[in-house]
Amino acid sequence: MTKYDVVIVGGGPGGLRCAALLSERGVKVLLLERQKRIGKKVCAGGITWSGLIKSLPEKLIQKTFTSQRIRTRYQDFKINGEQPIIGTVNRHELGSHMAELAIRHGAELITGSRVVTIDPDRVFFTDGKSTLEVRYDHLVGADGTNSKVRKFLGLDTPPSQHGIGLQYLVPEGGPEMVWNFNSDLFGNGYSWIFPHRSFASVGCYLPDNSMVPLQLKKNLDRWLGDQQIRTVGCRFEADKINIDYRGWRFGNCYLVGDAAGLASPLTGEGINPAWVSAEAVASTIIDPGHLAENLNRIAKRHHTHRTMSRIAGRSWLLSTLMPEFSALLLRFKMIGFEKFEMA
Ligand SMILES: Cc1cc2nc3c(=O)[nH]c(=O)nc-3n(C[C@H](O)[C@H](O)[C@H](O)COP(=O)(O)OP(=O)(O)OC[C@H]3O[C@@H](n4cnc5c(N)ncnc54)[C@H](O)[C@@H]3O)c2cc1C
Repeated sequence: MTKYDVVIVGGGPGGLRCAALLSERGVKVLLLERQKRIGKKVCAGGITWSGLIKSLPEKLIQKTFTSQRIRTRYQDFKINGEQPIIGTVNRHELGSHMAELAIRHGAELITGSRVVTIDPDRVFFTDGKSTLEVRYDHLVGADGTNSKVRKFLGLDTPPSQHGIGLQYLVPEGGPEMVWNFNSDLFGNGYSWIFPHRSFASVGCYLPDNSMVPLQLKKNLDRWLGDQQIRTVGCRFEADKINIDYRGWRFGNCYLVGDAAGLASPLTGEGINPAWVSAEAVASTIIDPGHLAENLNRIAKRHHTHRTMSRIAGRSWLLSTLMPEFSALLLRFKMIGFEKFEMA
């Protein structure tokens, strides 16, 4: 049976970043991805200036925006920056680019391989026909919201808290990036318009289960109707987002990104936390004394965002007043947009 220094479960941004960094340093890495094609993920593809825009090659950035339109019940304004505040990426393109890099550095990637069972020193995976096993010294769970590695570590009791994101991919969403806070429709969450080159993601996010998904979809449809955005025949997608962070280092097992619950409870932003946590895990495997300062900063911000979203979720009044107050601070430049980013 083959043995690897590190087995990574999941080929999203977290797993791929970890694989590239480790293999670049000569570590023997196997990454197992259950999907046949890397990069398929329900995601609006928003990345920020303080987060990933600067780290990615320009060709991967679909669009960038130096202004953001913010709408609340009582306010409608734009914030402007000298640098792009947010950009968009296509997840297929991002995944392909990151996979190529990992393979070029020497990582072994097997797609169409779903991990089914985990033991303390080996994982079992299936390609749909047979079950295979590999041994590991270190195991990295980068397998997203319903992580098998997280379950193996016993971290799903009590059950993890999830947010939910819904989106349509529409041919035309207008020229602006829009954030809309309306507690009647989206409780303590929000809705968005994120334009890409040839389509726009229009969707909404809710950080808790205060509304059933069907009602949330109805409310999204209503808001899109008000915006005169037509969704008939457009692709509709939904997914949960694990926001229940309970640590990342567990002996020789590690969790990154959504598997660790590191996406922002306030906004659902999770690509940058996956990237940063992957860097921390790779650095820690190479040097166990690594301080993981960037990840600690993200974990601290996660805590703040979780507290804010819980407070806003306590009542209709709070979920109305908190965005109004935050918008006022943004509008009069008393805080920067980065307060809401996971960077
Ligand atoms: C509607 C919606 C919109 C979003 N918009 C944004 C946004 O604009 N910006 C942003 O930053 N974040 C956004 N997010 C969140 C973002 O998509 C995630 O936080 C991010 O993808 C996390 O990356 P990851 O590498 O941790 O996990 P994932 O990207 O989920 O990757 C996990 C991988 O593991 C694989 N896998 C799972 N189980 C197994 C198994 N048993 N065996 C092998 N492989 C397995 C999966 O196939 C997947 O490829 C959004 C989420 C949703 C639902």
